[in-house]
Amino acid sequence: MKTESADILIIGAGPAGSVAAGLLRKQGRDVLVLEREQFPRFSIGESLLPQSMEYIEEAGLLQDVVEAGFQYKNGAAFQRGDRYTDFDFREKFSPGWGTTFQVQRAHFDHVLAKGAERKGATVRFRHEVLSVDVSGEQPEVTARSPEGETYRVRARFLLDASGFGRVLPRLLNLETPSNFPKRGAIFTHVLDRTPPGSFDRNKIRVTVHPEHVHVWYWTIPFSDGRCSLGVVAKTEFLEQYQGTDTERLQAIVREAPALQDLLKDAVWDTPARKLTGYAANVKSLWGPGFALLGNAGEFLDPVFSSGVTIAFKSASLASACLARQFAGEKVDWERDYAKPLKAGVDTFRTFVESWYEGGFQNVIFHPNASPDVRKMISAILAGYAWDKNNPYVADSKRRLGVLEELCAA
Ligand code: FAD
Repeated sequence: MKTESADILIIGAGPAGSVAAGLLRKQGRDVLVLEREQFPRFSIGESLLPQSMEYIEEAGLLQDVVEAGFQYKNGAAFQRGDRYTDFDFREKFSPGWGTTFQVQRAHFDHVLAKGAERKGATVRFRHEVLSVDVSGEQPEVTARSPEGETYRVRARFLLDASGFGRVLPRLLNLETPSNFPKRGAIFTHVLDRTPPGSFDRNKIRVTVHPEHVHVWYWTIPFSDGRCSLGVVAKTEFLEQYQGTDTERLQAIVREAPALQDLLKDAVWDTPARKLTGYAANVKSLWGPGFALLGNAGEFLDPVFSSGVTIAFKSASLASACLARQFAGEKVDWERDYAKPLKAGVDTFRTFVESWYEGGFQNVIFHPNASPDVRKMISAILAGYAWDKNNPYVADSKRRLGVLEELCAA
C-alpha cells in the first residue's frame, strides 16, 4: 500500500477542518484534508454567531464568506405564546463582532473548503478515512480514494474534524455518553413567503411550543427568500407523530399558532429530514499525536447555535498549540487546548440546561430586565462564552441561578 506524508492531516472539511487548514497554512504547514463527501453537500447548523467571525478572519477566509452573499444576521428573537423578545448582538457586553450570517451550509462549507485550498491546503473530496494507528511515533491513517484504492498517510499531527462522523472517538474507543437526554430534530427548507413586516430576517427566531417548554422550533431566514425550519424535542415526543417527516413537522408546527401564522403561505418544496441522538461526548479531546476538533469532540445542543462557533474555537486553539509544538516547545494539550475549549462549552452548557428547565426562558421573556444584564446575556448568545470579564461567563451557574429566582414566573 502506498504511504504518503504530511505535516498535518485533517479528517473532514466541515467548518472545523477548513478553518484549521486555513490557520495552519498561515503558519506555513503542509496540510492535507481528507473529506468523505463531494462538496457542496447538505449539512445542518445554519445560524452562525458573531464570535465565529473572529476565527473566519483569523484563518484568512473573511473575504470569501462576506462575498458569498449570505443573509446578514444581527441577533436572535424568541417567541413564547404572545411574548416576543429579541437581542441585537451589536448591543452586547463583550467587544468584537456584533453581526454575522445565516448560511446554507452546503454553500458555506464549500466556500470555506475552497478558501483553504486557495491558501495552499490539499483538500481531497470523496476520500474516506477508514482506520487509524496512533501507537507509533507518528499517527498513521488508512484512507480510501473514490476509485476504491486504499492508501496510508503518515502525519506529524492528526486533527479529527469529522464532526458527526466521529472517526477517532469510534476507532479509539473515546466515546462517552452525553449528559443530555436523547433529543432529535426534524427540519427542512421552505420558501417562506412571510407577510411583510412580520419577520425580522436579520435574526434567527426561536419559538417555544405553547404547552411543552422543552420543545422549540427554529426559523432561520436565508438571503434568497427561503428559510430553514426545524423542531427540536425529546425523541419520545417526536415519535408520537405519524407519517412522513414533512407531515410530522407540519403537524408539530400547527401546534404553535404564532409560527403557523408566520408560515401560512410557505411553500413546502423540500422533503424534511431528521436527526436524533446527536448530543455526544468523549473521554479526552486529545491523545498522542492527535486532537479532536468541533463535533468530533463534544456536541451539546443546537438551541443557541453554538456548534460552528465551538468548532472554529477548537480549530483556533489547536492551531495555536501546533505553532508552539512545531517551534519545539512542549505543549500540554490538556492545559492549553482541552481546558480552555471546555471553559466556553461549559458556559453554553449552563444556559442550555437552564433553557430546557424553563428558567432561562423566564429570564429572557421577563418584561423588566436590566439593560446591563441583557447586554451580558446578549454577549453569550452572540457566542462570547469565553469572555471571563462577563460575570455571566466567569460565574455562570451562580449568576444565572440568582437571575432565574428573580425572574421566576
Ligand atoms: P461537520 O460539520 O459535521 O463536518 C465534518 C466533516 O467530516 C463532514 O463534511 C463529513 O463528511 C466529514 N467526515 C466524516 N467522516 C469522515 C471520514 N471517515 N473521512 C473523511 N471525512 C469524514 N451549529 C451552529 O453553529 N448553528 C446552528 O444553527 C446549528 N443548528 C444545529 C441544528 C441541529 C439539529 C444540529 C444537530 C446541530 C446544529 N448545529 C448548529 C451544530 C453544527 O451542525 C455542528 O456543530 C457543526 O457542523 C460542527 O462542525 P464540524 O466541522 O465539527 O463537523
